[in-house]
Amino acid sequence: MKRCYYLIIFFILLSCGSDQTKPTNSKVKPNDSSVTAILPLGQIENRQILLLSRELTSFYGMKILVLPKKQMPESCLLKNTERYDASAMLQWLKKQKPTHCDRILGITTYDVYTQKGKYPHWGVFGLGYNPGEACIVSDHRLKQFANRRDTFLTLVTLHEIGHNLGLPHCDKHASCLMNDAKGTAKTLFAEKKWLCSNCRKLLQKS
Ligand SMILES: [Zn+2]
Ligand SMILES: [Zn+2]
Repeated sequence: MKRCYYLIIFFILLSCGSDQTKPTNSKVKPNDSSVTAILPLGQIENRQILLLSRELTSFYGMKILVLPKKQMPESCLLKNTERYDASAMLQWLKKQKPTHCDRILGITTYDVYTQKGKYPHWGVFGLGYNPGEACIVSDHRLKQFANRRDTFLTLVTLHEIGHNLGLPHCDKHASCLMNDAKGTAKTLFAEKKWLCSNCRKLLQKS
């Protein structure tokens, strides 16, 4: 009898533990009918484009249109390097967006940078308008994390699209994917494919 009593307490504790702060992969915007165009750039693999299409649909509920692959625009290239200006890329990407699409996501294998404080060419994983219609994600700095490469690429993509949807950076929960990576992978190791309740609330309002 006593044992049964303990079991009941155990089950009550278990059900209390499954609150809304537990990371989950359920769709955060299940009724989103918007369309995101994906533009593959450089040597990005079809396998990665397929993965990101699937992840965006499953996470945000949005539709995906994959555009034919393009070369990186020379107008955004930093002289005598193989690095590209991410802000200039966003402006260029906006012009590549089909009119019937709500936003465009460029995915590249090349290194992209942006101005950060006193650093004019700070390397980043990605950049996106907040809110807006364009974002860029680079695989260049993620290649070194062989077995986590695709996971990190997914996190960065969901993060940049989150900006496009109006989400700012978040410091409410270390696992929330809207944390600012600040150009290092340290944050990515802590993040999950998950938005904290504060970010979810902001998203529902947008
Ligand atoms: Zn960000
Ligand atoms: Zn958050």
